[in-house]
Amino acid sequence: LFPLIHYTFVNLFPERLKFLLHRSIAMATEAILQRLITNPERLKDLVDKAKDVALQSGMVIRTKEKPNSSEVVTYYPFSLFPTPVPKAAFLQALAVQTHFNTLVDKISQDPDFLEEALASTIQADDFTAKLFDIYRHVQQEGRTQPIVVGLLRSDYMLDQGECRTSSLKQIEINTISVAGFGVIDRVPEVHRYLRTCNSVFIIGLTLFNQGNCKSFCRAVILFLFEDVQTSIINHRCMEKELCNRNIPVIRRKFEDVSRRGSLDDDKKLFVDGLEVAVVYYRTGYMPNHYTEQAWDARLMMERSLAVKLPDIGTQLAGTKKVQQVLSKPGVLEKFFPDQPRVVERIRATFAGLYTLDMGLEGDKTVEMALAAPDQFVLKPQREGGGNNIYGSDICQVLQQVKESTERTAYILMDKIQPTPVQNYMLRRDFPLQISNCDSELGVFGVYVRQGKDTVMNECVGHLLRTKSSEVSEGGLTTGICVVDSPLLL
Ligand code: ADP
Ligand code: MG
Ligand code: MG
Repeated sequence: LFPLIHYTFVNLFPERLKFLLHRSIAMATEAILQRLITNPERLKDLVDKAKDVALQSGMVIRTKEKPNSSEVVTYYPFSLFPTPVPKAAFLQALAVQTHFNTLVDKISQDPDFLEEALASTIQADDFTAKLFDIYRHVQQEGRTQPIVVGLLRSDYMLDQGECRTSSLKQIEINTISVAGFGVIDRVPEVHRYLRTCNSVFIIGLTLFNQGNCKSFCRAVILFLFEDVQTSIINHRCMEKELCNRNIPVIRRKFEDVSRRGSLDDDKKLFVDGLEVAVVYYRTGYMPNHYTEQAWDARLMMERSLAVKLPDIGTQLAGTKKVQQVLSKPGVLEKFFPDQPRVVERIRATFAGLYTLDMGLEGDKTVEMALAAPDQFVLKPQREGGGNNIYGSDICQVLQQVKESTERTAYILMDKIQPTPVQNYMLRRDFPLQISNCDSELGVFGVYVRQGKDTVMNECVGHLLRTKSSEVSEGGLTTGICVVDSPLLL
């Protein structure tokens, strides 16, 4: 009912009343919640219904015990209620997305910037160094494929300021293996709201065929996937969309490409005899995704004529080190030289980020973190959740690495302090209980560039993930956080 009430009130009442009405919607949700807390039978009834609706609408995931089996699935963890999100902050996040798309794309094409920004990280972190080697190789050899496709997700939390006003602060930008498409589109079916996009592939592929490939029907999209396939149902949703448009998809692992992939004289990429138009990486963002052969396969794909999603420069543009360098004065201005408004809008979402490079500034960061570890998050150059360091662990790690260049593998970030909201999180194997929750808003961006021409640059939807305030971080597939939808206030 709430979206309907919300819609009716917002459209019928003048501006000054809206604020009160929004508040009353939030209070009504709160009242329902309180009533459920004291009525376990009604709660159970509602929860059972919600799970069934989730299953019915395809909001399913494979199980941890049998990640490679189609025989057993369960419901994708989700929140029972949508979470109130201030509309202004939500719109701010959507509005700034195309600028982040442009920024990441510009960084990916700027070897001097990337080399300088990542210099200290490369010294201390072997994984980033290896990615950078591939980037340098491709730069020196010269790009084969002028089409670039980006599919990003920029994540935010609402920081509760001193006057209890919340401000939107960016957690990070994900440029590779961006999860959350497909299955999570079903959350609003349960919460009544829906959004998605797959058009990025189609534009990339069409352009590819115009430019290079005479035999359209033979070129395929290659989904490169990890060994553990709990998220396959998300991929299947995308495959279905592509299939409906007569676009063939093949699924392979790094080792398949390494064994049975090759480049021809024109650097066309072939796997199992099929020409690959687009390589879509759903793996390759963690060191343990790579064997020596996988690194070779990655280099081969990057050198090929295939469109990469993302290409190596775009992956590097998404590192936490680049995020920190961007927050330094003057750096955004370099990428948007004549657009002070754009710079301002992007910068408004930045939380405090601090270098740990060797030197005075880095020393100051160490001192600051040791003095108040609870106010910060220490981040290595890793993706996929569960890698960050919090609280007293920050002191322990920094004490160990503070005198050596090892510390430059990390950056330090202000810890965002969101206002907790009560909700029920529906998670298999976890007891049902009312929890204080924090939410993280993810905004999806896509762009396609052909040489110098930007063909598409759009904000294409959002994702809200919610976790207990008691845990520092949580991944969707680990079942620690749940999918949610925003109730705009
Ligand atoms: P990853 O690439 O592994 O997802 P993130 O930077 O997104 O790395 O951090 C993982 C999680 O840690 C986030 O989803 C969020 O829950 C928590 N987190 C990260 N940075 C902060 C921060 N500055 N303040 C509060 N929580 C944070
Ligand atoms: Mg990430
Ligand atoms: Mg993240």
